[in-house]
Amino acid sequence: MNEEEWLQKSQQILSDVKEWRQVHKKATFVEIEEEVHRRMVQLEAQLLQSAAEESESREWGRGSDHEAPECPRCHVALSAKGKKTRALQGNGGATVSLTRTYGNCPKCGQSFFPS
Ligand SMILES: [Zn+2]
Repeated sequence: MNEEEWLQKSQQILSDVKEWRQVHKKATFVEIEEEVHRRMVQLEAQLLQSAAEESESREWGRGSDHEAPECPRCHVALSAKGKKTRALQGNGGATVSLTRTYGNCPKCGQSFFPS
């Protein structure tokens, strides 16, 4: 997520909450809090996802500049086997999906999914 998207997203949330407030004039503090939280969770999930992708979605294996991770037991480079997407549950309850290259250790055959 770039800065512009981030700004757009937060402005959207701000106007959504204002709008919601117009409709729910008698909302209690707890209700407002819930409403704000619900929207912040979405923002948090997106930020989490983009931050994680930036730091960790490093390509490795064929056609990549990055070195392959090592098997922690055998200390040999893993061979890339493809990509997998896994869904992670964020703190606020939002789901973040991350795509990672995963590989096999050519020595012990163990599969790894570097985090
Ligand atoms: Zn190994």
